[in-house]
Amino acid sequence: MARRIGSRYTAHQILGRGSAGTVWLGEGPEGPVAIKLLREDLSSDQELVGRFVQERTALLGLEHPHVVSVRDLVVDGNDLALVMDLVRGTDLRTRLDRERRLAPEAAVAIAADVADGLAAAHAAGVVHRDVKPENVLLDMQGPLGPGGSHRALLTDFGVAKLIDTPRRTRASKIIGTPDYLAPEIVEGLPPRAAVDIYALATVLYELLAGFTPFGGGHPGAVLRRHVTETVVPLPGIPDELWQLLVQCLAKAPASRLRASELAARLRELLPLLAGMPPLDVDEPDTDEAEEAAEELSGAAPAAGQPVRRRGAVPLVPGARPSDSNRDTHTSMRVPAPDELAGGARGTARAPRAAGAPRPGSARNRAVTRRRRLTLAVAATLLTAAGVATWLTTTDDTPPPPPDMENSAPAAP
Ligand code: ADP
Repeated sequence: MARRIGSRYTAHQILGRGSAGTVWLGEGPEGPVAIKLLREDLSSDQELVGRFVQERTALLGLEHPHVVSVRDLVVDGNDLALVMDLVRGTDLRTRLDRERRLAPEAAVAIAADVADGLAAAHAAGVVHRDVKPENVLLDMQGPLGPGGSHRALLTDFGVAKLIDTPRRTRASKIIGTPDYLAPEIVEGLPPRAAVDIYALATVLYELLAGFTPFGGGHPGAVLRRHVTETVVPLPGIPDELWQLLVQCLAKAPASRLRASELAARLRELLPLLAGMPPLDVDEPDTDEAEEAAEELSGAAPAAGQPVRRRGAVPLVPGARPSDSNRDTHTSMRVPAPDELAGGARGTARAPRAAGAPRPGSARNRAVTRRRRLTLAVAATLLTAAGVATWLTTTDDTPPPPPDMENSAPAAP
């Protein structure tokens, strides 16, 4: 089922499908290539096509061993295609799904490769903005690196910025994940190079732990955690590696390392990690409701069953953790999707969990008050973040703040 793409390329077979379109194995004048054919609703958007053409130079300009280069941009009838270097392998998400957790040496080697790619991009004034395992490809034909890891290459440079436009009018639909979003983006600041460092540190944490530090549940809850919560330590992780992770997951962008420094520091750690097995990490609790109820009632957890809590940080510089408002955030539990969708007003009632307060009891009223506060804070954060970055807007959805729309590539 060969398909012509412009006058120079032929697409032969589908390699994979992503959020923005379908990637084909293709052939061009210089040999095999990967061709990303954007979704029809994207390629028929004239404004979007115009911006791709405008950004042509930035898209085509990056050449680096750890970056998937874009070779050509084809606008042909209804087709909008990015012609890229072909990487014979798989993406990091597929590997993670298969292995759940990687050995620290392999995880750090992959992260160091990605940091190298980011350093080159940042030096050229390009911020990726969408670093996540799906956008890291593993070259399985090249030589193996430390810990048996394949060379990692970062792909989709500049694409997120071009596609994440709030003005397109179509049904609401999730086109990304908030798990990797830096807190300054949640707070509405323009994305600078440090957002890529935060996202990469999140990916590294995920490779080691099997889950992201602030992910899980409703997108609003994830956004809130990025701003308010501190990262939970991973048992058995060497201290040097943990310190690097903590530094790059800092809430303040200026506290994070630059990409080139991060790459160097990660590579320095490789000998220390050689031969170490994957970390033995428990899955995070999925049901925090019961814990929250116990916390609010002041009841002590049963002996031998400590309540796991994430740490909390002040929302504004200088605020003391003992501030009672901040404390509310500390003990805030994750709102369930049905609550944010209206269930909290009583439209959908879940069965009462063991140990949860009885309806109408004083403890239940306290929980309800806290829950309302939780929802109000989550709603505020959602608004501030311009959540339309993840939700393509409908005709009657207001656009997000200007910072989120057209952030120019920025130097680190
Ligand atoms: P997403 O939009 O979710 O980031 P992509 O559209 O970039 O995903 O890619 C979808 C799949 O296509 C990837 O998981 C990968 O398997 C494959 N792919 C993407 N780019 C290339 C490439 N340059 N070479 C080989 N395979 C690729």
